[in-house]
Amino acid sequence: MALAAALMVAPLEAQTPDARVFTRADTLRGSFTTTGRVWWDVSFYDLHLAVRPADSTIRGYNGITYRVLQPAHELQIDLMVPLEVDSMVQDGRAVAFRREGNAFFASLTAPQPPGETKTLTVYYHGTPQVAKRPPWEGGFTWTQDSLARPWVVTTDQGMGASVWWPNKDTQADEPDSQRVALTVPDPMINVSNGRLRSTTRHPDGTTTYEWFVVNPINNYAIAVAAGSYQHYSEVFEGERGRLTLDFWPLDYHLDAARRQFPQARTMLQCFEHWFGPYPWYEDGYKLIETPHPGMEHQSAVAYGNWYENGYRRRDGSGTGLGLKWDFIIVHESAHEWFANNITAKDNADMWVHESFANYAENLYTECLFGKQAGADYVIGTRRGIRNDRPIIPPYEVNAQGSGDMYPKGGNLLHTIRQIVGDDEQWRGILRGLNQTFWHQTVMGKQIEDYISRRAGVDLTKVFDQYLRTTRIPVFEYAIEGSTLAYRWAEVVPGFDMPVGVTLSGADFTLIKPLEAWQTATLGLPSPDAFRVDPNYYVIPRRGVR
Ligand SMILES: [Zn+2]
Repeated sequence: MALAAALMVAPLEAQTPDARVFTRADTLRGSFTTTGRVWWDVSFYDLHLAVRPADSTIRGYNGITYRVLQPAHELQIDLMVPLEVDSMVQDGRAVAFRREGNAFFASLTAPQPPGETKTLTVYYHGTPQVAKRPPWEGGFTWTQDSLARPWVVTTDQGMGASVWWPNKDTQADEPDSQRVALTVPDPMINVSNGRLRSTTRHPDGTTTYEWFVVNPINNYAIAVAAGSYQHYSEVFEGERGRLTLDFWPLDYHLDAARRQFPQARTMLQCFEHWFGPYPWYEDGYKLIETPHPGMEHQSAVAYGNWYENGYRRRDGSGTGLGLKWDFIIVHESAHEWFANNITAKDNADMWVHESFANYAENLYTECLFGKQAGADYVIGTRRGIRNDRPIIPPYEVNAQGSGDMYPKGGNLLHTIRQIVGDDEQWRGILRGLNQTFWHQTVMGKQIEDYISRRAGVDLTKVFDQYLRTTRIPVFEYAIEGSTLAYRWAEVVPGFDMPVGVTLSGADFTLIKPLEAWQTATLGLPSPDAFRVDPNYYVIPRRGVR
């Protein structure tokens, strides 16, 4: 999702402190190794839901098909209060269940032999939680467009998809495919993920829109978008052939969409170059207008950026470069590679989604205006860094780290690009990530290790420093005559990141400071000519040795 606008410039408000106490409910929600979850692997979600704007209720079922990995009989399904489960059914027989807050435990009586595929269907209904601040605090948004017609959307990243449909609410387990069949009152049109397979009109004045995703999909990407939409489509000739682009603005925004949405083509050209092929040719690419700013719903990107450039007319970088393109098209679509193609198993590794999406903004700026402009943009976003909490919080409790995962994470990646020092090699790493972890869920550590391996530099301490502490490395130096003395301060033990400095002339030379002082010979006209490469997110501090 997009960084909350209030967090674009530090420090406006304090975030939740890290001293949070985690409960059993946090573990039930955030762990993927608990006994009710670990023994089964979701292969298909068959979601059928009727949405009623008249009284803000929903009713339906999800058929959960899974492979048995280990023999077990208690299966955890998540569905948040105040929604109610009506029944659970397996092999035509009712299944007993008990509720513990937002978690349901089904007591399966049918044999669950390892290797077998079983289905548990969960029937439910109720009045789902209303989104307090979409997309950051999610749930249902029941609103109206400017012509007072109903407009209904969902958002649930972080909070969890179980705020509106029953599922195994963890990013660690994705189905191989999913149906989203939503019934809405006429003349509303519902646009969800993947491709529209059928439209069925019912005598009671409702219509079912059956959408189908043929690829693995994270649960928070599944979304409702029902309103008075218009539709047009185009074809993009991409790395894997013909990709359909489908655009769903509200009907009165059709002209605005035709003016603004060509940026999706430029975005696809840029990101296929840097990240590799768009991951969902089979499911297509879509932009769907929403009342909230935007969200990376897979193959159905939510767009609420007012058909203008910037991020609702703002530029988090302060350089003006962010006002030259549409932030939501760029940022949320970047998540098709980092968040949807490569999904973090644990919300604690959300930097894998947001640091790369922030970084993608800089690459997009580079695609449009050149390398220096891209660098200026990402360096500009540093003003939003707070260093209030680590980017990585505790695991398996659905915790979310500092908003620094956006600008600081982007600057971490920009810094690593300098260390790699070869743009084609760096591009190979970004494309290699998407190829190696294609359609997978990962731990962040796998991403760290992959980058180190492909860079040929052990970046363990670099990731530790930027992701797991709030300290920014200080490059301490002193100049005595033609001798430069230098070292790292404010760093994790063993921090050994190379950094570019001017030793002679204006070009940067890579040196490898440690915590202990080292020296080098300077060939500069004066000490004032010494510079640390500003592309590195470090603090240069001149002092005495
Ligand atoms: Zn994002």
